[in-house]
Amino acid sequence: MAALSDTIQARLRELAETFTAELPVRMQDIADSARRTLSDGEGMQEVRTLRHHTHKLAGSAATFGFHLVTSCSKRLEHLLDAILEQGSPPDEAQRHDIRMLVSELAEAARIKPAGSGSSAPGAGGTALSDGHADAEDLEELEDASEPVGSGSPAAGVPAADERRVVIILLRSLEAGQALGDRFAFYGFETTVLDDPADLIGSLCTDCHTALVMDVDYIERDPTIAEDLHSLVTSTQGKLHIVYVSDRDDFAIRLLAVRTAGTAFFSSPLDVTRVIDAVDGVTSGGAGEPYHIMIVDDDAEQVSYYALLLQRAGMITSVVSEPRQLFAVLIESKPDLILMDMYMPGCSGPELATMIRQQEAFVGVPIVFLSVETDEDKQFEAVSRGGDGFLCKPIRPDHLVTAVANRVERTRSMRFFMERDSLTGLLNHTHLMASLSNEVQRAERVGRPLCFAMIDIDHFKRVNDTFGHLTGDRVLKTLSRLLTDRLRKTDVIGRYGGEEFGVVMFNVDVENATRILNAIREDFAEIEHEAGERRFSTTFSGGIAAFPAHDGPGPISEAADRALYLAKEKGRNRIVSL
Ligand code: GH3
Ligand code: MG
Ligand code: MG
Repeated sequence: MAALSDTIQARLRELAETFTAELPVRMQDIADSARRTLSDGEGMQEVRTLRHHTHKLAGSAATFGFHLVTSCSKRLEHLLDAILEQGSPPDEAQRHDIRMLVSELAEAARIKPAGSGSSAPGAGGTALSDGHADAEDLEELEDASEPVGSGSPAAGVPAADERRVVIILLRSLEAGQALGDRFAFYGFETTVLDDPADLIGSLCTDCHTALVMDVDYIERDPTIAEDLHSLVTSTQGKLHIVYVSDRDDFAIRLLAVRTAGTAFFSSPLDVTRVIDAVDGVTSGGAGEPYHIMIVDDDAEQVSYYALLLQRAGMITSVVSEPRQLFAVLIESKPDLILMDMYMPGCSGPELATMIRQQEAFVGVPIVFLSVETDEDKQFEAVSRGGDGFLCKPIRPDHLVTAVANRVERTRSMRFFMERDSLTGLLNHTHLMASLSNEVQRAERVGRPLCFAMIDIDHFKRVNDTFGHLTGDRVLKTLSRLLTDRLRKTDVIGRYGGEEFGVVMFNVDVENATRILNAIREDFAEIEHEAGERRFSTTFSGGIAAFPAHDGPGPISEAADRALYLAKEKGRNRIVSL
């Protein structure tokens, strides 16, 4: 088991030490506030302040393993909630309970968490060694600390120097070879087999490998399923199985899931989708890392959770002052927001509602992370724009998994909403929205930008001669070529019909022209198949740049004009304006 890195250990210890060091001050705040609450005749303001202090303490005490402090503060918090709900100052019995709980709390704060040594409370790994945040949990996390990237089809193409290995095992060797050719075309190391017995010998042990296999083999010989299971385990998740089948029924899909299948496709195979799926799994998390925004007014807790998520390969942005939330939100574009329930000035559910009222952020999942155990309150929070509720304390690996699963699902849902179903590229609306965003960004940071429009030449003839399905395949081939050859940061969309649009940030006209010309030449070389017949086709392109053309409207109009010129000059060329 990999040891937890020293820096992380030290940082966690530091956070725990800060918490312990500040505990007496927090206790003093609570004692002062309690005194004011009890002497305050009619006012309820102090009850709210006391509740806020108490709640905050419950949260951080839970995080750092002071469970007695957590349970005492939770009881006090619930009492204060009841008082706030009744809307009148505490009665005699409640005043008595407040006094009791505050002194119990003070007592609890003096007790070192279990497992502590003789050193000062919370020093060393002390506060972390009790409860959820212990070193073992963290080491487990460390073991699984392969960056949690995206396995969804939205993930980008892995870096060119990464190996992408695919093994194909179909019932028909001929079909396998045809599929293998397509994979080879996109730069996969491809092995085509026709006997499951050869499988083990062809596995790559140190890289992510996709096995595209007919479920049929497993149906006929269940021992193969067992072999596959042990292979998936022994390769530590580096082997991914993509099943294909002639059938598409419940039983066969269930069998695929039970035998470790990550994806399932039925015939006739949509090769582009199969390649996308394989691309996703063999990139080994090389897709965009998940970006999580943490909103909590307690700086130590924010650092603690940020650290845990960073360990799992995620990027974090933190907001400890709710007023700064929107500035950070716009800049960091998080995949998910982890939100505290109670903060000074406003509550988590209120913030969630504010976020939801802005169209651009409607889709960002918001998960509350709180010590709140009252199910009604949890329900209310979730029904006001939240997507889930996690209770503190939470085990590090559980937090990471809960966050990663939600982000992955949101990403793949967004993929289907924003993408064109034939090519998987951005649809017209989202392409144009991206152009607009990227132009604003270029303006802000003073960089150039190019927008290119690409249109297949005489595409109507392709359809007329070889049929619409062949035409569709040509469109997919071009979209894959563009995806493969352009940078991950370039935005590629299907403008409409046989027209594509590309936004290239920080690229000038000369370079954009050079890049597109190279792709144009390669595209013209591709032989498309239509039954027995083979043919090739070309495209034309028009490029317009920012700042020469100022604003998304003028740029797309200029690119359109440039494309028209390219067609007029004889097609199969790139023109810039
Ligand atoms: P040009 O070189 O001037 O661009 O000629 P063209 O034939 O490509 O242009 P035109 O605009 O006359 O025809 C475009 C054709 O693209 C007509 C339409 O049927 C075809 N098309 C548009 N969308 C799709 C699609 O999703 N699938 C297929 N197969 N064809 C499509
Ligand atoms: Mg055309
Ligand atoms: Mg056209």
